[in-house]
Amino acid sequence: MIELSEARNYVLAGCRTNETIVVPLNDALGCITAEAIVAAEQVPPFANTAVDGYALIADDTANVPATLRVTGTVRAGMSGADSPVEPGCAVRIMTGAPVPPGATAIVMVEDTEGSPEGDVVVVTASAKPGQHIRPAGDDVNPGDPVITVGTELTPAHLGVLATIGVTHIAVVRRPIVGVISTGDELVDDGSPLAPGQIRDSNRLTLRKLLESHGFETVDLGLARDDEQVIEDAMRAGAESCDAIVTTGGVSMGDFDYVKVVLDRIGDMRWMQIAIKPAKPLAFGTLTRSNGTAVPLFGLPGNPVSSMVSYELFCRPGLRKMSGFSKDDLDVGIVQGVLTEPLKRRSDGKTHFARVVCGWDDSSSTYTVRSAGAQGSHHMAAMAAANALAELPDGETLAAGSTVRVRLLRP
Ligand code: AMP
Ligand code: MG
Repeated sequence: MIELSEARNYVLAGCRTNETIVVPLNDALGCITAEAIVAAEQVPPFANTAVDGYALIADDTANVPATLRVTGTVRAGMSGADSPVEPGCAVRIMTGAPVPPGATAIVMVEDTEGSPEGDVVVVTASAKPGQHIRPAGDDVNPGDPVITVGTELTPAHLGVLATIGVTHIAVVRRPIVGVISTGDELVDDGSPLAPGQIRDSNRLTLRKLLESHGFETVDLGLARDDEQVIEDAMRAGAESCDAIVTTGGVSMGDFDYVKVVLDRIGDMRWMQIAIKPAKPLAFGTLTRSNGTAVPLFGLPGNPVSSMVSYELFCRPGLRKMSGFSKDDLDVGIVQGVLTEPLKRRSDGKTHFARVVCGWDDSSSTYTVRSAGAQGSHHMAAMAAANALAELPDGETLAAGSTVRVRLLRP
């Protein structure tokens, strides 16, 4: 058995960062930026009002109530130029509208009396100069750095880019991932199970996991134990995908053709890792016809193992391919406190227990309890879990122990 860290380093070394592409903002959410963006425009582009009310000269409201003549209206989208504010006068103004020439403050409707359509307004609270005015460039000015290289684009980032008139951005292309399930026992068409058969659940689970993490997937199908079928599926994947994920056929006792085929057409390392579940892992590359090396993750077939292996190896590797920095390959790692003992025996392995993790406001800690049965085939408990708790080698951890937790749904 090798250590988890050795397996991870091996996998990560085999995952290279993808090339840079320019995409419309609409396609950039979650991508890592490959260029810095410096603002070329001012935001807001003109001084405007933060409230609905009246634009006026602050000095005219030194003594309240102050009665002012209403000489015009400016709405958002209008130019304020046609409605200058003269002494003793006010201009009705709506949120976002340009502050008309001459005005030095805005008074909110709530601090006035009089009908909204009337010729006069009575101001009941004195205005300070500049009140409720958002000056031009209050948010962003030309030359301001807005986005740095290596930023994971959030909706707010896209919003600020749209605000300054940027429509496209250079990002690291995210990998397209092909998923294959292997095993003669699998059925994937809903037909009744013959003796010894089980239903293929891994392919759907892994594809949806990948998609929920922002990766496009390709369904490469179910490859039964036939050398040619497996080879065709693998080769098709290497042509059309940036990475391939397979499940099944990688454990010690396996006599599947997966090993035979991958050893023949790929450059694979077969690992036994000191973790439970997900001890077996195959990782290596297939070579596309144009010479590109395509990483292949051979995950174990047990459903829980395949998901744990995905979290520990695939997801970090694919994040590296997507341009995330080496310190940002794991997601949602927190410390939690056990509210009940988590059973285990010393066996030389780190265990990843399926747990329910919650936030306790009164103690400001994450609490952790078992999600149920801990076998690598116990998918019901996996589905009930929202996190994996890392239990170092040793005996049962007592209630109150602190553990490292990997949140599956942060
Ligand atoms: P293997 O890794 O091929 O030795 O499979 C280990 C266990 O996982 C066996 O019980 C398989 O039947 C089961 N298994 C393999 N592939 C899948 C799959 N795609 N969906 C559900 N169970 C699977
Ligand atoms: Mg098998």
